[in-house]
Amino acid sequence: MKIFDEIESEVQSYARAFPRVFNKAQGEMLYDEEGNQYLDFLAGAGTLNYGHNNPLFKEKLLEYIHEDGITHGLDLHTKAKREFLETFNEKILKPRGMNYVMQFTGPTGTNAVEAALKLARNVTGRENIISFTNGFHGVSLGALATTGNSHHRGAAGVSLNGSSRMPYDGYLGDDIDTTAYLDKVLSDSSSGIDKPAGVIVETVQGEGGINAASYEWLKNLETVCKKHEVLLIVDDIQAGCGRTGDYFSFEEAGISPDIVTMSKSLGGYGLPFAVVLFRPELDHWKPGEHNGTFRGNNFAFVTAKAAIDYYWSDNDFSDEIKRKGKFVSNRLQSIVNKYGEGNFTTRGRGMFQGINCVSGEIAGKITHNAFQKGLIIETSGADDHVVKFMCPLIISMENLNKGIDIVEQAVKEVCAREDSFLEEKDYFEPIQMTG
Ligand SMILES: *Cc1c(COP(=O)(O)O)cnc(C)c1O
Repeated sequence: MKIFDEIESEVQSYARAFPRVFNKAQGEMLYDEEGNQYLDFLAGAGTLNYGHNNPLFKEKLLEYIHEDGITHGLDLHTKAKREFLETFNEKILKPRGMNYVMQFTGPTGTNAVEAALKLARNVTGRENIISFTNGFHGVSLGALATTGNSHHRGAAGVSLNGSSRMPYDGYLGDDIDTTAYLDKVLSDSSSGIDKPAGVIVETVQGEGGINAASYEWLKNLETVCKKHEVLLIVDDIQAGCGRTGDYFSFEEAGISPDIVTMSKSLGGYGLPFAVVLFRPELDHWKPGEHNGTFRGNNFAFVTAKAAIDYYWSDNDFSDEIKRKGKFVSNRLQSIVNKYGEGNFTTRGRGMFQGINCVSGEIAGKITHNAFQKGLIIETSGADDHVVKFMCPLIISMENLNKGIDIVEQAVKEVCAREDSFLEEKDYFEPIQMTG
């Protein structure tokens, strides 16, 4: 670990929870230099929905590199871009009756969010953006202003302007529809909330603790946006690309956002890639007005197209995710019932689920204990109190079951306070897995 301690910045985060040097990965498995194998239930925080080094995409990528396909092309038209656009249009947008144009932004999620916010502001001529409690939209300044987390906000160093926070679904309890409050403040010229350009929302809050908004709430939110002529921006960076069961996380809610941001698993292979989708009438951009050297990653065009071709040409994959999601929620519910002492609850949708342990300390002990058993799994939420299940969607049922077995054992040991011995010794006993 020496060189990492010596010259890599203290800003490291995941590396602290999983202090190993990883050198290989395949599917849902990660390997370290000592030859230990780990089941990966972190999956690049939702970037590896199709697993590590998916062989179906690797082949296409190697072929493309071998043929000297364009690696970097600014925003030039390339064959790889054309084929990605055609595939996205034919297999994702058209079957869903969606009419969006696509903007390629810099390759990270926060780049897409910045572009979306800028567009909404320019189109409407208004500055304010409504964002929600516990929302996470990235850490560049514009996106950070719409992010709730005080740890991230605290690092900004400047005031974070241009956003008003509203309570997310369930924030004030299950019986209160917080969109009614939004409607009220937008209707009241003395509410003190400036009329917004847009509302940015995650259908399931990932970093915020796997808070899943109900379909009804999302529908009501759309209605309020329409009523006040405010743009609805769905940030589908983490919840999209199949995580909740459908390609877009908002499909089942039956809403039609004006703007959608995508990144994380969009590239399919874990390659950096981000886009903004928006209704054609909103395309007020002037040429080059918003740019970036790495707009559209040609390697990611190749693997993103392959991901759509292989997994989204029919409904099989979506059905599989929903089936696995039911399996996960049943198992998590049983763990909570058995060991949760009436405190723990389950949350989430599809393969985007978590166990709310109420206490960050306990959730941290559980993930730490699980790591000692060969499972990489993280926490999320305001107090890191939610154990977050984000395994690749392509995971085998055997390994899905095994990973949950490890969590069950970890919960059992932590809740029975048998963990002190494990913590002191920090011993590592990887279990055998297929992979
Ligand atoms: C991860 C994430 C982002 C930011 O993406 P980066 O690539 O880390 O900049 C934005 N919104 C949501 C919902 C995310 O999960």
